[in-house]
Amino acid sequence: MPKKQTASLTAVRVRFAPSPTGFLHIGGLRTALYNYLFAKKEGGTFILRIDDTDQARSVEGALEHILKTLQWVGLEWDEGPQLEGVKDKLIEKGKSGPYIQSQRLDLYRTHALQLVEQGSAYYCFCTSKRLEGIRAEQTAQKGLLMYDGFCKNLTPDERKEKLHSGAHFVIRLNVPSEGKTSFNDIIRNHVDFENALIDDQVLLKSDGFPTYHLAHVVDDHLMRISHVIRGEEWLPSTPKHILLYRAFGWTPPIFAHLPLLLNPNRSKLSKRQGDVAVEDYRKKGYLPEALVNFVALLGWNPSADQEIYTLEHMAKVFRLEAVNASPSVVNFEKLDWLNGRYLREKNSSELFEICLPFLASAGLIAKREHTYTIAATGERVTPSWISKVITLEKERMKHADEIASLTEFFFVDTPQYDSMILCWKKMTSEEAARALMYVATLLEQQPDASWNALLIEETLKRAIDENGMKTGEILWPLRVALSGREASPSPFDIAAILGKEKTLKRIRYAVSKIQSQ
Ligand code: GLU
Repeated sequence: MPKKQTASLTAVRVRFAPSPTGFLHIGGLRTALYNYLFAKKEGGTFILRIDDTDQARSVEGALEHILKTLQWVGLEWDEGPQLEGVKDKLIEKGKSGPYIQSQRLDLYRTHALQLVEQGSAYYCFCTSKRLEGIRAEQTAQKGLLMYDGFCKNLTPDERKEKLHSGAHFVIRLNVPSEGKTSFNDIIRNHVDFENALIDDQVLLKSDGFPTYHLAHVVDDHLMRISHVIRGEEWLPSTPKHILLYRAFGWTPPIFAHLPLLLNPNRSKLSKRQGDVAVEDYRKKGYLPEALVNFVALLGWNPSADQEIYTLEHMAKVFRLEAVNASPSVVNFEKLDWLNGRYLREKNSSELFEICLPFLASAGLIAKREHTYTIAATGERVTPSWISKVITLEKERMKHADEIASLTEFFFVDTPQYDSMILCWKKMTSEEAARALMYVATLLEQQPDASWNALLIEETLKRAIDENGMKTGEILWPLRVALSGREASPSPFDIAAILGKEKTLKRIRYAVSKIQSQ
């Protein structure tokens, strides 16, 4: 077996090169993260380069989104030019922006012309009509769809004449028709491709823009990129890149192609099976540290018995050689689990900061300057009261936007529910009403100074014991009366947070609901 290539330790420089065609996806985030981790581990440089040479596919606002997302997850890039204009707003003063390929067009053109000059590339004047014809013929013959090399064989005079006549042209790479192009990949070992199967790739398009292949080889060389770490979908393009490096007389970087990401049903990870954009997860209140931890483990895990990794820890232990070559199944239940773990580690003021925006956007809490009110009732509440509500649901919450539905019953005048659910097991409505009236008399006597979860619990449990009742007979109707739900935190905690007045109001409301049935 050929030896696996190892990541060399000389001046590590890596780049993440997203195209601004939409939101950054989970797969893109993993590529960015592995590049970042590798750079940090090796004391290298992490570069962000925007691959926007395919202007037709570029989407307005996508660049800003990519920058915002990388900043949100904490993947700061290390170098780049100072940028003018809209992107500035997203980049702190004095910090570098990403490299942007559409601002470097002259460079690619000069390099394409250099290849033509030395015979490694050629002008192609074929019209789209002719290319469609070749394609149709190859499709009919079930052959490979490739350029037929027609313009490679033009005489110098024919070429000159076409150029003088102002005919549109592209520049194509002159791929040898025989032999193999091979390279070593850190993750997939030795890879080779038959040259006969490699198309004469377009390098410069007729609008003067470079293709991805030319632009990124030129940039990777000029930016002294030592390792190209990218998704497996780019593996078939790599021999074209190797040929380009050779044509320029440059040493190629070391390659590492990351495994595919699959849905649990082993189809390719796609939008159709659920959310794949990082933005979707940010909006649902997932924590950046949980998302980064989750994404890191899609293809790499240094230890069988550890799942929790901070960015700093990963940057210490990451090894490119340890990334799996086999596809990685994305199990979003694990993300929920991880996010829950991270949420539970937050203290109450951190949780308040995380959850408040979700309570506000759900219309439960209104904030004006430093004043908070319950939107439905106009009642003023303190941040510490809101914090208690949030902390109560800390254990149940998987992601922060769930806080609104979990705690909604605290932010209403009286919760709405079907009075039937007040009955525990086989209880009749009358029995439930009687239990609630009994609880009301007990709690009315509870002194204000003892209105806390512990002492309320003590009062109610003592009464249950003394009367030889079952816990559920009292606590179930009480819990439903306070929350309007069959599943909720304990009635003692809810009562303590609601306060005596609201607690009694809700109990009486439940009794009247049963009686007016
Ligand atoms: N723009 C390409 C992408 O969107 C970059 C591929 C590469 O890293 O070479 O994935």
